[in-house]
Amino acid sequence: MNTSKQQKNKNYGRTVLLLLLLTAVILCLILGLMLIRMRSGTSSAETEQNLTETQPESESISESESETETESETLPPGMVSGMTLSFYHAFLHVSDSAVMPVVRMSPENAVDTSRIWSSSDLQIASVNETGMINPVSPGECTIYVTSVSNPDVFAEISVTVYPDEEPLPNPGEIVCSGSPRDDIQVIGGITYVNGIMIVNKTYPLPDSYNPQGMTPETAQAFAELRQAASDEAGLYLFSHSDFRSYQTQVYVYGDYANQYGSEAADTFSARAGYSEHQSGLCIDVNWPGDDFNDTPEAVWLEQNCARFGFVIRFPRDKEALTGYKYESWHIRYVGQEIAQEIMQNGLCLEEYLHVDSEYP
Ligand SMILES: [Zn+2]
Repeated sequence: MNTSKQQKNKNYGRTVLLLLLLTAVILCLILGLMLIRMRSGTSSAETEQNLTETQPESESISESESETETESETLPPGMVSGMTLSFYHAFLHVSDSAVMPVVRMSPENAVDTSRIWSSSDLQIASVNETGMINPVSPGECTIYVTSVSNPDVFAEISVTVYPDEEPLPNPGEIVCSGSPRDDIQVIGGITYVNGIMIVNKTYPLPDSYNPQGMTPETAQAFAELRQAASDEAGLYLFSHSDFRSYQTQVYVYGDYANQYGSEAADTFSARAGYSEHQSGLCIDVNWPGDDFNDTPEAVWLEQNCARFGFVIRFPRDKEALTGYKYESWHIRYVGQEIAQEIMQNGLCLEEYLHVDSEYP
């Protein structure tokens, strides 16, 4: 009896010891797991912090390149890594003709630059395989363009279609977001960057755009500029030519192209639809020719035009950006504030608006 009791006690003691050992092992396991969790938690927090720290840098890079780049480091050479469009917002009337954004793929040596177009709502606007966006009925929709070889690279255009009887919005009043940097809008076929109309080799005007002459602001500003040139410097400035309709430009460019060939003509004359003269915002002062360069009139114009809201549209040494050789006589109205910023910083309008000027 005694021995069996002792045996029982011994057995009991062993079970307790075993149980204690087991709980100790379980506790150790739990502690270990918690430690691992805490470690991975801090490391993910660390990487998150690293990410937010590096973000501003990568943002400023994409800003300066104005492109939506994906991680190009990991991409094989020749693979499409980014895409920019000539506009990201379109405001059209139902009866407006189709608009087509210029698409630029990067890098320049990308092998397969093919893309697919689609519309979020074909009842509002359709898009064909070349990117022609056609208004269908009033409303809003999104047009998507995606790289075929790298579907991570894509862009969106927000399209608003208005009934024909409703006026289109004023470019200066629309605030858009979602574009990589500047707000590029197409309103009734005319391109505005941050509310400023742009007409160059990338951004044409519709054939039908015809303000019938200089815009009232341009005419008023030019009258004041002429008066000042006379009062302050005794110089006589006048408009050699200002507004030219689409049809007139067809003849002007056609004449030059016949005389000099189209390649040469493209360096000093615009193809119809691509001429700023059709905008009613620019003037060729006194004499449109190289012999006007460096005359007292040309010097005064360059030094004073910004006070009246004009810029020298094709400055010296900016041919690669504007697409035109230096024209000391061609001034463009942009308003005083912008003109002074452009002229004081020695910029051309393309630099100021971060846009290209190249025929498609
Ligand atoms: Zn001109």
